[in-house]
Amino acid sequence: MGLAIMLTNQGAAVAALCDVCGAWIETAAEGGYAWNQTRDESGAIFPLVLVHKGNCFLTYEAAHPDAMDMELSVLPPYLAASLDVDWDKAIRLARCFSTP
Ligand SMILES: [Zn+2]
Repeated sequence: MGLAIMLTNQGAAVAALCDVCGAWIETAAEGGYAWNQTRDESGAIFPLVLVHKGNCFLTYEAAHPDAMDMELSVLPPYLAASLDVDWDKAIRLARCFSTP
C-alpha cells in the first residue's frame, strides 16, 4: 500500500505501510524503500515500494532481481528537495497535525 493516512487524536498522520507484508513501518530505522532498476538511462522512472528491512526486503528482492534499496530515513529529505518544499513550514504543520 505504501503511504496511507492514519487518523490520530489530533488529525491525520501519514503512515508508511510495507508493500510486502502490509504492516505499518513505525520508524524509519525499521524500513527502506526499493525499486526494480531495469534500465540505467537518465529520466527512467520506476515504481517505489516501501519495505521492512530484513525478510520483507529479501522477499521483494527475490521477486525483482534488479532491486535497489535505500534507508527510509533519507526518503523525506530527497522528496523535499525534489519538490522544493518549504522545510520549516512543512515541519511545523506535520508536528501540529501528525502526533499519533
Ligand atoms: Zn513488511
